[in-house]
Amino acid sequence: MIQSPTPTIGSVAIDDIVQLAGAPVYVYNADVIRTQVHRLRAAFAGIPVRIQYACKALSSIAILKLMRSLGTGLDTVSIQEVHLGLHAGFTPEEILFTPNMVSFEEIREAVSLGVHINIDTISVLEQFGHEYGNTVPVCLRVNPHIMAGGNERISTGHIDSKFGISIHQMRHVQRIVQSGGINVNGLHMHTGSDILDADVFLQGAEILLELAELFPNLAFLDFGSGFKVPYKPDDIATDIEDLGQKLVARISAFNATRSSPVEVWFEPGKFLVSEAGTFLARVNVLKQTTATVFAGIDSGLNHLIRPMLYNSYHHIENVSNPLGTPRIYTVVGYICETDTFGWDRKLAEVRVGDILAFRNAGAYGFTMASNYNSRYRPAEVLVDGGSARIIRRRETLEDLLRLQEEA
Ligand SMILES: *Cc1c(COP(=O)(O)O)cnc(C)c1O
Repeated sequence: MIQSPTPTIGSVAIDDIVQLAGAPVYVYNADVIRTQVHRLRAAFAGIPVRIQYACKALSSIAILKLMRSLGTGLDTVSIQEVHLGLHAGFTPEEILFTPNMVSFEEIREAVSLGVHINIDTISVLEQFGHEYGNTVPVCLRVNPHIMAGGNERISTGHIDSKFGISIHQMRHVQRIVQSGGINVNGLHMHTGSDILDADVFLQGAEILLELAELFPNLAFLDFGSGFKVPYKPDDIATDIEDLGQKLVARISAFNATRSSPVEVWFEPGKFLVSEAGTFLARVNVLKQTTATVFAGIDSGLNHLIRPMLYNSYHHIENVSNPLGTPRIYTVVGYICETDTFGWDRKLAEVRVGDILAFRNAGAYGFTMASNYNSRYRPAEVLVDGGSARIIRRRETLEDLLRLQEEA
């Protein structure tokens, strides 16, 4: 019989990680993040590329510092993310602020901090021109009306979307730009998460390249993100290498026609951090019902909401009993709502106290965690160079009470 392999993350035994930080805990493998950054760079070698990590996916300071050490910039969607980025050591020049429906006050604050500004609404552009004229360059977020994304709720390019300025409004945009003397230095699109094939990107590229002719000062084209990562073992992922080859050829040809070449920016979130993350939670209860065997864990939608919010699939493994006989379970949380992580999952026999590992939990895991049911948010651990360290401690009762004023 084969010896049971000790399940590890970045060559650190999962047992040791749980010993260190307890459970539930988010664990990130720095090497996987490095690999993804390098893959992206390699795929687009040959054209000037900037990777603006979309930090809403995972914004813990240790992760932001890791990204910075790997040479990425940041894409931010709130002034608080801008502040976190600056705190982590990014320069304002390395940060793009891509807000939607924020107060103009928040845009003013971003301008005063010196970060790149991305505007996605005509009325806001008008006000921007009125206040700043040509003194502060601005990027325009356009909606190319490309239907992309595996799920309606994470599609942002369609006709009913609240994001971006429609490509059909460009005449109006041009008037505002000209009369306000606005300096447009970038064009941006982000058509939503989970783009399945390179052609969506290439269609978008054609649209941005065509619009680029309207803005002579253009310094960059930002193609957003939406790179899909495999969630199920047999899932297809965006073929970054194929996309790279095609886009590099197209952009090179475009740049050959211009006096100064445009940079290409990308804003991957999920692509950089999803596969690096594993969520570990302990089994509290096994409950046989008429329908199934529920494996109830010491966690719920308060810690990992993607399965309930987006119907996302996260692969689950029993890392405490890897050689156990496979059985079928329905994995659920302890929250007083229906919080099902997965129906009919084949797991190595589960015992109370076992640790279950939820894969691909690096993106939109911790950042979407809440205190619902007055539960503590989990700890976070970074594994790097063969060792694990806590990058965020588990909350305590004090954290729940900290901001409350008691009469
Ligand atoms: C969320 C977001 C991203 C990142 O999307 P992923 O699917 O995580 O790669 C990029 N750009 C903008 C503007 C976003 O809102």
